[in-house]
Amino acid sequence: MTGFAYDVVVVGGGHAGCEAAAAAARVGARTLLLTHRLDTIGEMSCNPAIGGVAKGTLVREIDALDGVIGRAADAAGIQFRVLNATKGPAVRGPRAQADRKLYRRAMGRLMAEQSDLDLRAGGVEDLVLDRGGAVAGVVGGDGQTIRAGRVVVTTGTFLRGIIHIGEETIPAGRAGEAPAIGLSRRFAELGFELGRLKTGTPPRLDGTTIDWDGLKVQPGDEVPRPFSFLSGAIRNPQIVCHTTGTTAASHDLIRANLHRSPMYSGAIDGPGPRYCPSIEDKVVRFADRDRHNIFLEPEGLDDDTVYPNGISTSLPRAVQEAVLETIPGLERAAVRRHGYAIEYDFCDPRGLRGSLETRRVPGLYLAGQINGTTGYEEAAAQGVVAGINAARAASGAAPVVFDRAEALIGVLIDDLVTRGASEPYRMFTSRAEYRLQLRPDNADLRLTGCGIALGCVGAARARAFAAKTGALESARALVRRLTLTPSAARRLGLPVRLDGVARTAASLLAYADIDLTRLEGIWPELGRLAPAVAEQIEIESRYASYLERQDADIAAYRREAGLTLPETLDYGAIGGLSNEVREKLGAARPASLAAAARISGVTPAALSTLLYHVRCVDRGPEA
Ligand code: FAD
Repeated sequence: MTGFAYDVVVVGGGHAGCEAAAAAARVGARTLLLTHRLDTIGEMSCNPAIGGVAKGTLVREIDALDGVIGRAADAAGIQFRVLNATKGPAVRGPRAQADRKLYRRAMGRLMAEQSDLDLRAGGVEDLVLDRGGAVAGVVGGDGQTIRAGRVVVTTGTFLRGIIHIGEETIPAGRAGEAPAIGLSRRFAELGFELGRLKTGTPPRLDGTTIDWDGLKVQPGDEVPRPFSFLSGAIRNPQIVCHTTGTTAASHDLIRANLHRSPMYSGAIDGPGPRYCPSIEDKVVRFADRDRHNIFLEPEGLDDDTVYPNGISTSLPRAVQEAVLETIPGLERAAVRRHGYAIEYDFCDPRGLRGSLETRRVPGLYLAGQINGTTGYEEAAAQGVVAGINAARAASGAAPVVFDRAEALIGVLIDDLVTRGASEPYRMFTSRAEYRLQLRPDNADLRLTGCGIALGCVGAARARAFAAKTGALESARALVRRLTLTPSAARRLGLPVRLDGVARTAASLLAYADIDLTRLEGIWPELGRLAPAVAEQIEIESRYASYLERQDADIAAYRREAGLTLPETLDYGAIGGLSNEVREKLGAARPASLAAAARISGVTPAALSTLLYHVRCVDRGPEA
């Protein structure tokens, strides 16, 4: 019917690629995942962990859309911890230490089991465009063309990647794997704005040579909580991690060798991840500190390699070894692989629409580190959106864009496409204006219904979701129905005012020191709520007034976001805007007035000018 071998081809089997391919296939597109090697599908290039604050919420959101990262992490998790467990629910961060091998195996299995998805090993060297300039397929390293109506490129750090270890430089996409040169050249020829970024990774250590005695033990949570709303209990044996730290002697050595660290000496141009800095960076930026924490994370149940989280470095090999000798417990640690930095090309994400389709080449989508992000979760989040949209476009359906009030995924993509990435972008809860709504616990309530409507949620999840939402509705009705007079509440030891106003169970849960366990003593039926429902009832009741206020803010935001800006708008022709603002708006082409407002330097006066122009002068087609 289309002359295409596939509706969607996904290039790259990393975190973005797996999610994109699985999502496209779930939506019903005939999909091919084409990646260098099938045995590196789901490879964790850096730390063996998934989740954390904000990142864990991204994983839950992807899972809510029936994505794969949460289920793979549950199958591979060997230590689960909820970070910030005692803080507010918006900043809690589900995190799991993963067994690398189990993670790869789980991801490989999920990919292999996905219907409508073919997997093939091979490098992609070029794109095929039709006469109109739209994408029409890819060309493999063997010269073979695979025709496809939509292509999602998720090549991570591979575009013109160069590894640096001290003075050594090695062309590579990551350790031991060749870079992607042809694709990068093609992007440049097509006029994509390419930039350079860098990131680094620590040495890997032989755990049998670490002196564990005396190191602080860091256990996981007593009861591991899975990421996926579909996973049952975690079955893997759970391990402990240990912590140590750098010393003044480590810092002296690092300072003395800074000129030999390409991450630091200027040998690499691109900016690195500010929030995941190298140890060289930390020693310089926090010069007054004489210790930096190191988390010793085992890489697997049957693998004694240890990942020393916190000392990513590109110092020469001998210096790395000398620094390890100054760290308690690591004095005799043998290095299995040295730390390194990698610099690579990325495409300015302001050249993307909110659907992650490129403006320049219709039908071409980009997702993951190629868009200037860092992290598995950020990559996977873009992957699921690109996959859904590529599949929808293949069937003629309109693109879907999650907004900033419904998902951290929406915040991530909106930030990228409107503001770009001047350094590797990492997700934080502080980036979200409506973070009280965008919690890890309610990701399914926010997104699974939408996923069902989009056709990317399978029957098992849809059934589980219907059962949960039904139980939650009943529980909400129950806590509104159960009431006590203030005097009865006082007699039961509850600290309420004697104001004559009856209290519902829901309103009592808003008190800081009243929880469901306490109310179960009064109303035993509350003890019969399923744990996930009980958690939701507690959070909704405790934060009810804040959530209501935020709902009003969200309504205002959505009104502004509804003021769309035509994609064809000629910013150069709008009088009253400064050149700087014109350039910024022209580069980002924000989809709405709300998105324009988030671009740095776009002032309220510029927004009024823009609004006047769109309403009264340029009434072009809606974006
Ligand atoms: P990747 O996971 O890199 O996957 C890319 C895939 O594309 C690979 O399977 C590759 O084989 C394939 N591919 C590439 N080019 C082609 C081609 N032409 N044809 C076919 N297949 C191709 N993240 C953090 O959060 N914290 C960190 O500290 C951190 N440090 C890092 C250090 C290093 C050295 C590296 C390499 C990465 C680091 N990351 C870190 C980033 C994290 O690994 C990535 O953000 C994440 O893996 C990106 O996912 P992705 O899917 O975009 O790309």
